[in-house]
Amino acid sequence: MGDYYETLGVPRMADEKEIQKAYRNLARKYHPDVCKDPGAEEKFKSINEAYSVLSDSQKRAQYDNMGHETFTNASKGSYTGAGGYGGGFSSDFSGFGDIFDFFGGGGQRRSGPQPGADLLMRLQITLEEAVAGTDREIEVLHSEACPACGGSGSETKKTNVCPRCGGSGQMRQTQQSVFGQFVRMMPCTMCGGRGKIPERPCRDCHGSGHTRVKRKVSVHIPAGVDSGMRLRMEGYGEAGDYGAPNGDLFIEMFVLPHKRFERTGDNLETIIEISPALAVLGTTVEIETIDNRHIDLKIPAGIQYNTALRIAGEGVKRRGKHGDLLVRVKVVTPKNISGEAKELYQKLAELEGGNDKPGGIFSGIMGKKKGKK
Ligand SMILES: [Zn+2]
Ligand SMILES: [Zn+2]
Repeated sequence: MGDYYETLGVPRMADEKEIQKAYRNLARKYHPDVCKDPGAEEKFKSINEAYSVLSDSQKRAQYDNMGHETFTNASKGSYTGAGGYGGGFSSDFSGFGDIFDFFGGGGQRRSGPQPGADLLMRLQITLEEAVAGTDREIEVLHSEACPACGGSGSETKKTNVCPRCGGSGQMRQTQQSVFGQFVRMMPCTMCGGRGKIPERPCRDCHGSGHTRVKRKVSVHIPAGVDSGMRLRMEGYGEAGDYGAPNGDLFIEMFVLPHKRFERTGDNLETIIEISPALAVLGTTVEIETIDNRHIDLKIPAGIQYNTALRIAGEGVKRRGKHGDLLVRVKVVTPKNISGEAKELYQKLAELEGGNDKPGGIFSGIMGKKKGKK
């Protein structure tokens, strides 16, 4: 599937309303109940996937930032280790459970089966890993469908309509106050808002249909991530109620500081120190890149303190584009010199003194030299 903007046929700068409008038109056109063309269902799925990302400002920002390939790869993951329940546990996390929402309208809490909550985890990575990308195995503690009852909460895997709320999942609560009588709608206390109760409560999960499991999940961290960015693992959050989708797992990156490199956007910056003599005459220094390669950098004669020299393409690679490596040159004044070096500096100072006339090299900066010793 192509770019989400192309899928919805909107420009990259489209606002929320344009995106929503384009989505509604397309979703109506390709809805499987309406459109019998071959491929309509695929198209409908693509439209929904695109919309689920572009309609969420946070996901959209991340998508724009990471690009299509990286974003979609990051949302794919795989379970490893133990697992593989026969029933209830689905490895298909395509998760389009919410796609019909707009037909019903509104984002209110739905009655009936509730989707699972999203989870957020923070992950520390080194700057090297952020630059090159890496694969990590993480442990996630989340709820899954109970294997004993397949998530139904019932030993017989059958559920009955809740007798208290009649299946609506809601109860009216009447309150008396000085202003009169209030009626409030509350989630049903017997079924917890689900509208259904297990025929015979499962002994393993006590009828909840969920069980807490620790899972190993392998996560692909794409090259170019930065602190604060979140990867989304669709369906890896908390289990939804029976028949409702799981929540998502978000993994927020924290990139540890590096001792030699600092990151600014997609550029990396490092510092080298040279002597005043080399600053005057120019030289070539060897720079070690973040992936431990060595590059010769020519320092031009007469370089000024704190000048940044650019090595193109040695920064952070993101969306196929490389940032640069900036090498900031610090001229370090020697504190203790003796012998020949001292003599030479003295000679230099005398030479500079000889320039003690209007237009001399230091006259504008340092003013006139005070009385000679
Ligand atoms: Zn109920
Ligand atoms: Zn159970």
